[in-house]
Amino acid sequence: MKILKTIAEVREQVKAWRAEGLTVGLVPTMGYLHEGHASLIDASVRDNDRTVVSDFVNPMQFGPNEDLATYPRDLEHDAQLVEAHGGDIIFNPEPEEMYHKGFSSFVDMTVLTEELCGLSRPVHFRGVCTVVSKLFNIVKPDRAYFGKKDAQQLAVIKHMVRDLDMDIEIIGCPIIREEDGLAKSSRNTYLSEEERKAALILFHTLRYGEFMLKNGERNVAKITAAMKEKIAAEPLAKIDYVKIVDLDTMQQITEVDRPALCAMAVYIGKTRLIDNFFTEDLWNSADPKNKEIK
Ligand code: AMP
Repeated sequence: MKILKTIAEVREQVKAWRAEGLTVGLVPTMGYLHEGHASLIDASVRDNDRTVVSDFVNPMQFGPNEDLATYPRDLEHDAQLVEAHGGDIIFNPEPEEMYHKGFSSFVDMTVLTEELCGLSRPVHFRGVCTVVSKLFNIVKPDRAYFGKKDAQQLAVIKHMVRDLDMDIEIIGCPIIREEDGLAKSSRNTYLSEEERKAALILFHTLRYGEFMLKNGERNVAKITAAMKEKIAAEPLAKIDYVKIVDLDTMQQITEVDRPALCAMAVYIGKTRLIDNFFTEDLWNSADPKNKEIK
């Protein structure tokens, strides 16, 4: 396993692999890796001959009042994790390597970025689309792996690849959770002990939304109102959004009458956490009762 800091080094390595006829998978991350990231690396190692993990806290996807300066970093730990999971390269550039002086080209997207995190974080997806496009151009992977934890990001990247004819297969991977249900996230390290307990409200509220759907409720206003009420009962929680959107367009719907995403962003103290479920996963889950109800 090698840590590479420059675009030229990555290109050279990938070129050598290509000359041998090897396939390449890419796992884009912002580092501080945990089992959620590891599951993406596992999937890439399974599907491809070589795996590149990018480890870059991308300044462009942070708004002015967000946590760019405090975002946790630990390259040594990341290197151990990537090595243990069979990754071949960590690409860990400095911001100046990715954004040279005079950088002025961006990849932007309409419609899919209007709701959910796109609404609360206006510059976020422009930063994500731009950096992911650059990583695709640098690594030229056959496949790239993204977590369903960032469901809107996954939808946006799939859409970008289709719109811009990028010849890359986008693979969405399941959310990895702590034992008690909290979705793993690098930002969980910000939580105090008390906040960590309070953060479980996200998971419990999602399960409640699923319960309503399983019991036949399809009215989005009713489901989200009940979910918001549950969150409001947790004193340390403050809702950014709780919404149900069409899975393809990420636009709000009024009835759950098509494949949909139920997503939330909730502040626990100062830490903004996101979580979600896909209705299709609910219907396809092992519980035969779900299929009956649908
Ligand atoms: P990040 O480093 O937070 O930008 O995440 C990098 C990638 O890992 C994204 O595709 C995330 O969706 C994915 N990811 C983060 N947390 C999880 C998780 N708990 N389960 C699955 N994938 C995750």
